[in-house]
Amino acid sequence: MDSHTQEFIETVPRPRCLFCNKNGKRLYSNLRDHLFGVSGLWNIDKCASCEILWLNPYATNESLEKLYDKYYTHEGSTNEFLLTNTFKDFSRNKKIKYSILNTHFRYDISIPMSYRLIGFLTGIIPSLRKKVSLGIGGFPPKKTAKLLDVGCGNGDYLLEMKYLGWDVFGVEIDTKAATIAQEFGLNVIANELKNGLYPENYFSAIYMNNVIEHLSNPKEIIAICYNILEPGGLLTINTCSNTSLAHMFYKQDYRGLEIPRHFFIYSPKSLKILGESCGFITETTQTSLNEYIWISSYKIKNRLKDPAFISENKVIMNTLRFLSLIILAMKPQRGDDVSITFKKPL
Ligand SMILES: [Zn+2]
Repeated sequence: MDSHTQEFIETVPRPRCLFCNKNGKRLYSNLRDHLFGVSGLWNIDKCASCEILWLNPYATNESLEKLYDKYYTHEGSTNEFLLTNTFKDFSRNKKIKYSILNTHFRYDISIPMSYRLIGFLTGIIPSLRKKVSLGIGGFPPKKTAKLLDVGCGNGDYLLEMKYLGWDVFGVEIDTKAATIAQEFGLNVIANELKNGLYPENYFSAIYMNNVIEHLSNPKEIIAICYNILEPGGLLTINTCSNTSLAHMFYKQDYRGLEIPRHFFIYSPKSLKILGESCGFITETTQTSLNEYIWISSYKIKNRLKDPAFISENKVIMNTLRFLSLIILAMKPQRGDDVSITFKKPL
């Protein structure tokens, strides 16, 4: 492949769909990075067959750092309290979350009787139960089974899954974030997921949260996941959806495009194709509304300051959450975040 320079960022063209090998159709041209100010004008192409969108051209591995120059800073974990505090010291939201996991999902954690009743009653609400389950990747409890978080950041998710009884592992390409996770005593490797990093059939569950869209070689990474999962093991991928209502509404200003850091923007259908092309069976596909995506897209469209940073306005957030319940009840595949769980055949 030939490469050329786009304002100091080395790029590679990708004229064809990675999955169907069909020529892409230009969907958006000359887009700018309104979130973190990376230079250049960028295009997004679409595959008419599998619905996937991709950045064309995209940055080479050597230029990746330039895309993440002003990206999120990695601070301490919000789940650090799980290492030292006991249930009575948790915030009310966390208490309810763990009570629902205990009473509705059979997670064996010590919960006071009063909260068992609260967890049981609040967990009857389907949207709340779904939110709690999605938050842990939809994994059912499995005593001392091994779980890997690919792109684990500062270890937030791993701390929670460790508290829930999993034997946890992580890989993280950002060394600063990996160091924070290691300081919590977590088994985290500062690297990308590669062949040979873990033995075959090693994990019962693998989690990839907001990672797949940043990868230029998703098929290779999913093939590695398949190898290191045990038969019957689960892989959950969360990413932003290109079939979401927010994308239909905001088009080229949709926050989920995140040019030029998202190399692919998937639909539920294209994620299914990706997993199944590597041998997986699709277990569940769910979408959920992401109020941050809506507010951030609104800020991008109106060229407001700092569109990546959202200050929580309770009234706006709760209004959006309420609207999402109605929208998703009518159009279950129109949420902004898609979560898909694959199973390795037995
Ligand atoms: Zn395609």
